[in-house]
Amino acid sequence: MSILVFVEGADNEIKKSSKEAISYAAETAKLTGGGDVIAVVFGTHDEGALASLGSHGADKVIHVAEESLNQNHISAFGDALTSLAESHVAAMIIMVKSAFSDNVGARVAGKIGAAIISNVVSLPEVSGDFTVKKSIFTGKAFATVKVPGDKKVLIIKKNTVDLKDDGASASVEKISAPVEVKFTENITGRDKAEGGILLDEAEIVVSGGRGLKGPENWGIIEDLAEALGAATGCSKPVSDMGWRPHHEHVGQTGVKVSPNLYIAIGISGAIQHLAGVNSSKVLVAINNDPEAPFFKAADYGIVGDAFEVVPRLTEKVKSLK
Ligand SMILES: Cc1cc2nc3c(=O)[nH]c(=O)nc-3n(C[C@H](O)[C@H](O)[C@H](O)COP(=O)(O)OP(=O)(O)OC[C@H]3O[C@@H](n4cnc5c(N)ncnc54)[C@H](O)[C@@H]3O)c2cc1C
Repeated sequence: MSILVFVEGADNEIKKSSKEAISYAAETAKLTGGGDVIAVVFGTHDEGALASLGSHGADKVIHVAEESLNQNHISAFGDALTSLAESHVAAMIIMVKSAFSDNVGARVAGKIGAAIISNVVSLPEVSGDFTVKKSIFTGKAFATVKVPGDKKVLIIKKNTVDLKDDGASASVEKISAPVEVKFTENITGRDKAEGGILLDEAEIVVSGGRGLKGPENWGIIEDLAEALGAATGCSKPVSDMGWRPHHEHVGQTGVKVSPNLYIAIGISGAIQHLAGVNSSKVLVAINNDPEAPFFKAADYGIVGDAFEVVPRLTEKVKSLK
């Protein structure tokens, strides 16, 4: 029995969150008494980079090296993954949560008759029934779920396990698509959102709210983000007013982030904003109102004027580097 990991990547880069899924699979294999961890990667990728997935816990990498699979396609990926799950007698298929993987996972689970659990936030408990914890109600609560049956698709949230990095190397098997991949539509072009670091992949996010007063003041957010190597985000009203692009809007109706550090500057901490950030490891709030709700959710808080605090923080970060 093996564990397959569906690895996502773009532009020859493997997503860090997919590497976490590999580490999750390796830990799960230990708990469940073994089985190879096989990372499945689609599209054009550098073989050396794929071998290095061994460092995160993969025993083997299957590289479905079809150029046509450089574009994400639910049914094509789902069908290919289903075929590999069957040929490798996979007991579990693990992937990291994304809008795309939810659909791919559902297709695979339907085809192989597996249980599917999304938003998983814990390693499985295997002493009795196989159970996992999942986040529900946009992160406001958790449910413990018993997963019966001998086939499971687990879709984990980012930051569920620490990334393993032990320098090991995996063997790489390059194959063509195991089934005929059918495209019901074709992506003919992609416009990448501007900005260097993808918000939903970022380790650190610096986010600004209406307390920043206007778009002309975003320099202090960008300077701090640059000093920290962070992505920038914002609250909903900020993007609604056109101060920042919509792809930066964080929250229940925007991007959901799970960085190691989320710094909220001049953001009140409305429940709809918190719903998008509450799986961050450390939350920091900077607000001049000591009663701002964000302080109840934050691990650290600074009560002060953003226009004084943030430039000082940036200088301090730069001096520490
Ligand atoms: C259905 C629905 C969905 C929603 N989805 C989202 C969502 O996904 N994301 C989201 O963000 N919101 C969402 N909202 C809106 C949400 O309810 C809040 O209105 C919004 O988050 C408030 O944004 P804000 O904190 O930037 O602004 P405000 O609530 O105006 O807060 C500004 C904060 O800045 C502080 N401040 C002011 N001046 C300074 C200063 N000089 N220095 C430091 N601090 C200062 C103030 O004390 C205040 O706490 C949604 C609302 C609804 C009804």
